[in-house]
Amino acid sequence: MIEVEGLTKYYGGKRAIHDLNFRIEKGEVVGFLGLNGAGKTTTLRILACLILPSSGSVRIDGLEAGESAHEIRKLLGFLPDTPPLYDEMAVGDYLRFVAELKDVAPRDVSRRVGEALELCGLTEVRLDPISTLSHGYRQRAGIAQAIVHKPSLLILDEPTSGLDPVQIGEMRELIRRLAGDHTILLSSHILTEISQTCDRLLVIHEGLITADGTEEAIRKRVASAGSDEGIIEVELEATGSGDPGPAAKAQCEKVTGVLAARIVRSEGRRISLEIEAIGDQRAALARTLVESGHGLLRLDRRSLALESIFQRLVHPAPPPGGPISA
Ligand code: ATP
Repeated sequence: MIEVEGLTKYYGGKRAIHDLNFRIEKGEVVGFLGLNGAGKTTTLRILACLILPSSGSVRIDGLEAGESAHEIRKLLGFLPDTPPLYDEMAVGDYLRFVAELKDVAPRDVSRRVGEALELCGLTEVRLDPISTLSHGYRQRAGIAQAIVHKPSLLILDEPTSGLDPVQIGEMRELIRRLAGDHTILLSSHILTEISQTCDRLLVIHEGLITADGTEEAIRKRVASAGSDEGIIEVELEATGSGDPGPAAKAQCEKVTGVLAARIVRSEGRRISLEIEAIGDQRAALARTLVESGHGLLRLDRRSLALESIFQRLVHPAPPPGGPISA
């Protein structure tokens, strides 16, 4: 379990993080989300006992980071933003080296290395020099070095950074596999990448926690703290001559509460639009479109897209009343 109280770090006179308070229970997978420069790496490095905070405390499994850094390092595995790999070593040799460095008992080293290779999908490249690995495999090797001593807590700084969509999917799978045996805190600046992997999200902006809760709870709180904004999807069979899309779009935009309309598909007379609106404007939109002679094929409302929720948490300011928690 991680308990963080009043965690603050200044570099020179400049604030990196200020008064962070949160808990992560055993077995949880928590996403630490923030834009570049928000303070994620600073926080993770403090938790990994690599740097000291200016003030505040961190307790990991009951141990104070300030007093028991050495013991805590044995409990945790850390993937920094640049994995600490030795290019000239073969993958398996490197993991063996890390295991020995982390005080794994000599009789257990081979087994632990084998398990880490297997879990991270590295068995077939175990004899390859690290310098020959693709970026995705380097990230996997970075995770393998973090788990080779079987830590209970894993801290991963941007594990999907620089990966292509297929590799991101594989990394997500790997993190899910690791989740059973580990408490995991992972950072990202891309909400959709971690919302599917994590039980809970901590959102950090300019060094302050602006939200703490499940994705669903954060979504609800943002909606109730701000306006009831949503997206209405409309599919219609247009009437009239010429290109019917712009006319239908203009009609939708006249409806009270509609902020913007966008044509997402136009095939012959069949048009799909996405409409951003405050409140549920489906009835008013249906009336307007039908009265204009269009055939209404579909009208659905969905809540604000995840990325918009994130934008709202980080721009322009945290919601009134302090952090959102759930
Ligand atoms: P990124 O995703 O870009 O790595 P981040 O959320 O991890 O961003 P941090 O690296 O923790 O953010 O940086 C938080 C703030 O602290 C930034 O303003 C950064 O410039 C500053 N900072 C970080 N490390 C140092 C340092 N060693 N010396 C001075 N300032 C630093």
